[in-house]
Amino acid sequence: MPDTDVLVVGGGPVGLAAAVEARRRGHEVVVLEPRTGTVDKACGEGLMPGALRLLHAWDVDPAGHPIAGISYRSPAGHVDHRFRDAIGRGVRRTVLHDALRERAATLGAVTVTGRADDVRVTPAGVEVAGISARHLLACDGLHSPVRRLVGLEAPARRGAGRADGRRYGLRRHHRLAPWTDLVEVHWSPVAEVYVTPVAPDLVGVALLGPRGASLDDALAALPELAQRLAGAPAGPVRGAGPLRQRSTRRTAGPVRLVGDASGYVDALTGEGLRVGFAQAVAAVATLDDPAAYERAWWAATRDYRVLTSALVAWAASPLRPTIVPLARRSPGLFAAVVERLAA
Ligand SMILES: Cc1cc2nc3c(=O)[nH]c(=O)nc-3n(C[C@H](O)[C@H](O)[C@H](O)COP(=O)(O)OP(=O)(O)OC[C@H]3O[C@@H](n4cnc5c(N)ncnc54)[C@H](O)[C@@H]3O)c2cc1C
Repeated sequence: MPDTDVLVVGGGPVGLAAAVEARRRGHEVVVLEPRTGTVDKACGEGLMPGALRLLHAWDVDPAGHPIAGISYRSPAGHVDHRFRDAIGRGVRRTVLHDALRERAATLGAVTVTGRADDVRVTPAGVEVAGISARHLLACDGLHSPVRRLVGLEAPARRGAGRADGRRYGLRRHHRLAPWTDLVEVHWSPVAEVYVTPVAPDLVGVALLGPRGASLDDALAALPELAQRLAGAPAGPVRGAGPLRQRSTRRTAGPVRLVGDASGYVDALTGEGLRVGFAQAVAAVATLDDPAAYERAWWAATRDYRVLTSALVAWAASPLRPTIVPLARRSPGLFAAVVERLAA
């Protein structure tokens, strides 16, 4: 008899969401996570309405700041879209992690401190770090060791961007009252800086751009934003990347890739959590049917992959300066894209 039905490797937000969903469907669950306590990570911390809706369905309601829409901004002007009939939320990663961890524990998911260094497929399922399970949900993030160990890693393709062609993310917080309920995406000549209100006295600032891009250099090209943020940095800068990661397939025997582990395009559209949560739901619903998970994965990630890839390619092209002016001239199109990604 395996030790558990479902072994979730990685106790980040997607792994914990998968654990919650699996417990709600009556499966025994063990979460394997090397880090103890509350886990922080470089993230823009914007929960799109679709992500918040799923959290609420799981009875998870992390504190944060409402997000009513998205604003694209350049020194030449801005365009805003307010979500039509839903609201998102800016939530500190630490707050989100604690809320999901508590919910998973309340529902009876067991957490084991440890790391997946090896994956052994057995007649009964899989064995990792001495734990046997019928199913393994690999939720171990952007650089997923499980993806590599089970042979699902796709060779890196040059992503769109400058310098070495890859894009990276940074984030830091500023201790001040949010001045807006929109996520502001500020387009500098080389990087995007987006600002998310996450608490009544805290805003998160994330940068997306080529290797070596710095927040201070980007802010120097965005004087209005730099002035708002001046003097209030709070806490360390955290980084992540390269952002673009690919998998050849999402299933290998009893193993499923879920969340960033299954591949990632870019954080430019603020989509990782919504798409990762949707994958967690799909993975749990299709534990015994790999082909169904593969289909559900394509469906759950399609809009994100297509729209984010297109926007990142545009951002890396000589036409980059046309993005905000074109969005301003076509507010209907901008609204349609935002609504599609927020759903
Ligand atoms: C700069 C930046 C800004 C972003 N902004 C947003 C945003 O505004 N909104 C949004 O929705 N998304 C955003 N994202 C994306 C979002 O952060 C990710 O999609 C999300 O964190 C994915 O969650 P995850 O649980 O799949 O992976 P992670 O959060 O990376 O969690 C993976 C977990 O696996 C564990 N792990 C790693 N290796 C092993 C191992 N060998 N064994 C066991 N456990 C292991 C790690 O310790 C970690 O806890 C942003 C990303 C970046 C980089």
